[in-house]
Amino acid sequence: MSVEFVNPVGVKGKMIAPVPAKVEMEFAEAVERVQQRVRDGTASLATDSEIKKLTFDSQKLVYGNWDKPGPCQYAGCGERSIRRSHTLQRAGPLAAIASTDNHVIAPTLNYARAKIEYARRGLDQASTFAGFCPEHERLFEGFENRGTLQHPREYVLQLYRTVSREAVRTAFDIAHHEKQAETVSAQKTKTLTRLCLAEAAKLVSRYPVLREYQLTPAGMSEELAEWMTVAATDLGQIRAMIGDLQLAIDAIDQGALGAHIHRYVLNGRLPITLSGQSAVNFQLDDEPHRLVLFVTVIPEATRTQILIASRSAHAALLDHHLSSLGLLGPGNGVNADALLGFVEAFLFHGTDHWFFEEAYWKSLPPASRDALLAAVVGDGKLGIDAAPLQILPRSPRFVATRDPLLPARPARKQRHAARRARGWSEHEPLDLQQSYRILAARKDLTLVASRDNYSDDIHVHSKPRRKDGWVFARSIRAGQWRGGWRRVRASRVDPFG
Ligand SMILES: [Zn+2]
Repeated sequence: MSVEFVNPVGVKGKMIAPVPAKVEMEFAEAVERVQQRVRDGTASLATDSEIKKLTFDSQKLVYGNWDKPGPCQYAGCGERSIRRSHTLQRAGPLAAIASTDNHVIAPTLNYARAKIEYARRGLDQASTFAGFCPEHERLFEGFENRGTLQHPREYVLQLYRTVSREAVRTAFDIAHHEKQAETVSAQKTKTLTRLCLAEAAKLVSRYPVLREYQLTPAGMSEELAEWMTVAATDLGQIRAMIGDLQLAIDAIDQGALGAHIHRYVLNGRLPITLSGQSAVNFQLDDEPHRLVLFVTVIPEATRTQILIASRSAHAALLDHHLSSLGLLGPGNGVNADALLGFVEAFLFHGTDHWFFEEAYWKSLPPASRDALLAAVVGDGKLGIDAAPLQILPRSPRFVATRDPLLPARPARKQRHAARRARGWSEHEPLDLQQSYRILAARKDLTLVASRDNYSDDIHVHSKPRRKDGWVFARSIRAGQWRGGWRRVRASRVDPFG
């Protein structure tokens, strides 16, 4: 944080005698000395406990306010949401782990003790959020009271609500962090003013008007600014996923998913249900990528279903990520421990929207419960970082499988043959702005883009000057560039490669 020096002439409603320029300059030097001490760490503008208190106040805000009615999450609607919808079905996963008097365990904020604690929550109050207007709430009629998910359409509806909740939550977090940044800045400015006045104490005693000098912060901390940028980008992806899923709700009846969804089934009922979103950064083909993924854990009477999903455009990224965790082998079998580890990591670092079966929660060692509750406030880790503790039950009789929601696609060779038979591409001029961005460095703006109408890959190449001359070519898969530009013969820009 840097500060700007505001001349007291601007203070409203007060007559302020001018100070001699020499004194003003000495005061400016005093301010600079204080800033130097702040920079080298010998003075601090807010103590750890002050920052902690500010952060806690903001937590209070999150727990107190975020489920107030807002705009309906159905893309393009904008009506006010007036109902509390369940993210996780009341009659489904919540009922599956409820105690005999219909309660589950959830994290909550104890205002009096200023601490995140756990509490019993009735099923009617658990997992609700202000998501939809009455008209769009009707999308879930019928689905709401089903005990188990069976038809692919129901999985899509479940994910739709998972993702909608994340959109509401992330939008709230962004607005809220802005407020928090202001509060922290105000606190720091107060301290800074005090330090500066102390530094210039002699001057101030001679010229009391100096007390009226104001020091105002310029810009929020870089860390927070970066968080805001990333969060805003992620919110864009989350909203895009809502759009994808809306299409998917219709598409599913024609046998297409419209979003990238993996379903895992564990042959035992886990004592937990959760839903949430996390992001993964990684390098693939020397390019940086950010994957936003969604997870829902649905316990049923004798098994647990786990949905892991992303936008279709990020399918390749999600698959790459799941492969690296050993969750996407050639067959349908999956290592149950790896799957439970994934859920545990998500429980610690990916979401605070979780519910435990009361009896199981009480059987956990206090240290494990404390660790989970501490993670609710957030430790900056992502849902893919390993969990610090084992929380979920393990059993040698656990078997996990990956069961696709829809019949598997034909093998690669068959796909290629089908594509050749069908004709593979439509030619379209690339959006001009995009072309500028891509080839600005190459000073060559005549680009042709071909979309492979089966894989959705886009092949981009410059126009050859002669028939079968040299061109620069590059592909976009899943909305992201793959590899660098290659110089190839026009005839070798191979759609089937
Ligand atoms: Zn609506």
